[in-house]
Amino acid sequence: MFFHAFLIKYGEIGIKGKNRYLFEDALVAQIRHALKHVEGTFKVTKDQGRIYVHTEGEYDYDDAVAAMRRVFGIVGICPVVILEDEGFEKLGDDVVAYLKARYGEDCDKSFKVQARRARKTYPKASMEMNAELGGRILDAFPGMRVDVHEPELMIHVEVREHIYLYSDIIPGPGGMPIGTNGKSMLLLSGGIDSPVAGYMVAKRGVKIDAVYFHAPPYTSERAKQKVVDLATKVARYTGPIYLYVVNFTEIQLYIYEKCPHDELTIIMRRYMMRIAERIAEKTGSLGLITGESIGQVASQTVQSLAATNEVCTMPVFRPLIAYDKEDIVTISKQIDTYETSIQPFEDCCTIFVAKHPVTKPNINVIKRSEQKLMEQIDEMVDKAIETAELIVVG
Ligand code: ATP
Ligand code: MG
Repeated sequence: MFFHAFLIKYGEIGIKGKNRYLFEDALVAQIRHALKHVEGTFKVTKDQGRIYVHTEGEYDYDDAVAAMRRVFGIVGICPVVILEDEGFEKLGDDVVAYLKARYGEDCDKSFKVQARRARKTYPKASMEMNAELGGRILDAFPGMRVDVHEPELMIHVEVREHIYLYSDIIPGPGGMPIGTNGKSMLLLSGGIDSPVAGYMVAKRGVKIDAVYFHAPPYTSERAKQKVVDLATKVARYTGPIYLYVVNFTEIQLYIYEKCPHDELTIIMRRYMMRIAERIAEKTGSLGLITGESIGQVASQTVQSLAATNEVCTMPVFRPLIAYDKEDIVTISKQIDTYETSIQPFEDCCTIFVAKHPVTKPNINVIKRSEQKLMEQIDEMVDKAIETAELIVVG
């Protein structure tokens, strides 16, 4: 079956007035971006409150649909057949031929015809079209019947300059288009959680930058490549991601030298947050995102989260905070980051971990330990930020 266009359905609740244009323009931009790498020529248009993707000539249908299914803000994708207006008789023939090609000669579904006249000069009113096209369908398919309340097939016939015919809705991801809700900085590790966290916040329309802390030579080039690969996978949904790779070795060694070892993880995490926030400020992000979840590991008890959070003034978004690991894994499989996440490369957090880390850190105790770093830490932090490597993916 060859489709000439796609009608894009999007959630309209809550996008009134000026927001509506911002939402639609962002959605159009994201659809264009998503289709850039798909074989074929696509024209995305916004017309009378509807977004269409028109195709020209041959194109890769499956890839096009897959790409659009990753665009946040899309609720449904309707493949459309566009017919020349050659009179109402011919339209009846075409509708029957379309149904035969799409659902088979002996289709026995219940249906409703939903005609809409965008071109008001068309000689038939939409009610008339519904009734007469319905009659043609009943004549052609003995097994089909009309159900105006819960039809299995909603057959849309839209009269514009040409006639648009569609009856399928392929579900989209929902959410809001990237760029409609500012930008935030994702702390991206090589684990399962943080890519999912980035995906979830991006789904609310937030553009994503990312920061990764590595500790060469304690962490390898392969571990870094794994994070680049993960960012690339997340970018399939979010569009290009600016990934800042921060060399954390010096800071980690210094903390190791000066601070009690059972506090290493928490102090290290506090420095990660501080550095991430500084880069976020410099690059226009308004919040931070982590993959933390209450109780998952020692550094994610409520007390630890409070201690980590205390160094930030920006809001920290933790979309997985109340999720079980199982549910996080399910999403990571859906968005195709799971296989990359479970590759066994060391993480900079795992190198310096104590056997018995504190699980209920006292903020005052931690602050006192951090005092021991005061001589050199500011300089080290500045240097880590200045020397961060920028990798753009997606
Ligand atoms: P993940 O699966 O995302 O690695 P995790 O369960 O291993 O999470 P932690 O190692 O405690 O948990 O990290 C908590 C959060 O801190 C991560 O979700 C991530 O947002 C951030 N984080 C941890 N390590 C790094 C790192 N090396 N670079 C950037 N962010 C990190
Ligand atoms: Mg981790």
